Amino acid sequence: EPQNLTSLRVFVKDKLSGQMVDLFEACQQQTSDLDRKEACRARLQVDIQKQFPESRLYLTGSSMSGLGCRSSDADLCLVVTGNVTFSRHYVILTIKIQLIKAKVPILKFKERGSFLEFDLNVNNTVGIRNTFLLRTYAYADVRVRPLILVVKKWARHHQINDASKGTLSSYTLVLMILHYLQTLEQPVLPSFQQTHPECFDPLMDIDEVPDGPKHVRPFTSTNQSSLGELLLGFLRYYATRFSWDKQVISVRQATVLPKTNSKEWRNKFICVEEPFEGNNVARAVHEKIKFDAIKKCFSESYRMLNDRKDLVSILALRAII
Ligand code: ATP
Ligand code: MG
Repeated sequence: EPQNLTSLRVFVKDKLSGQMVDLFEACQQQTSDLDRKEACRARLQVDIQKQFPESRLYLTGSSMSGLGCRSSDADLCLVVTGNVTFSRHYVILTIKIQLIKAKVPILKFKERGSFLEFDLNVNNTVGIRNTFLLRTYAYADVRVRPLILVVKKWARHHQINDASKGTLSSYTLVLMILHYLQTLEQPVLPSFQQTHPECFDPLMDIDEVPDGPKHVRPFTSTNQSSLGELLLGFLRYYATRFSWDKQVISVRQATVLPKTNSKEWRNKFICVEEPFEGNNVARAVHEKIKFDAIKKCFSESYRMLNDRKDLVSILALRAII
């Protein structure tokens, strides 16, 4: 990682970029945070395997993709093979956890006596595949991780980062950022599903998925934009260029696709294709009022940041760090 930070300096020549790096360094997930999540995962797996010897528990999401903050939850995927029905009560009793109200079909719990939260799903293995795809993008260029962390903090600050409230999930936001970086005149990222299909084969054995990214070399981009320029460009793209009503975001193909009349895209405000399964990851945005609020965030933040080139104009930095 120190190597990474050295090369990041090339892209930090202006005040805005400097603020972004400071925020990234203050908020990014620490090794100790990951160690703690991994220890919990291992302990849980031991308990669950007493009942389901064939099962495996995977840490997924931002904890594993390199896109996590210190405050990020730990996403878990339990892979159970064979014909077993998995009772929620069984998990709750066995590992003595406290349940938190969840709006989506996952088990949400926290570690007793701490703030560390978990989201556990069963057999939703696409989450394992896409986590390692995102990890490859995260480490392909030194600018990707700081840019994504700042955009996540921006979206959270403006209350447009909560799928359970009809706005954007972090996963959707990340795909929107990757799409922007893939479609620049001088792309910062390629489509790794196109350049390395063998590493992201949707039929690959799930045990082998975490090793996929090891075979991908960092991408060398001719784009020399600073971090601040990329942040402003991201806001500008969604404020002025992207056509919400005619275009579908495809990270898999590194392009926009026309919005067809198929069930997946019809009457949807925002269309972002899941890279492996092709469904719309932004379907939580189903109210016009929320969609308008999201668009307004992009256009107003673009205007403010373009005027002042200061992160404070779009984010309350003191409250975050
Ligand atoms: P945060 O740091 O805010 O927790 P995150 O990267 O963990 O961000 P989430 O939106 O919490 O993002 O999603 C966690 C993981 O769940 C994603 O990395 C992805 O693997 C998976 N996931 C989330 N939404 C979908 C979806 N609609 N389809 C497939 N996989 C999804
Ligand atoms: Mg998460």
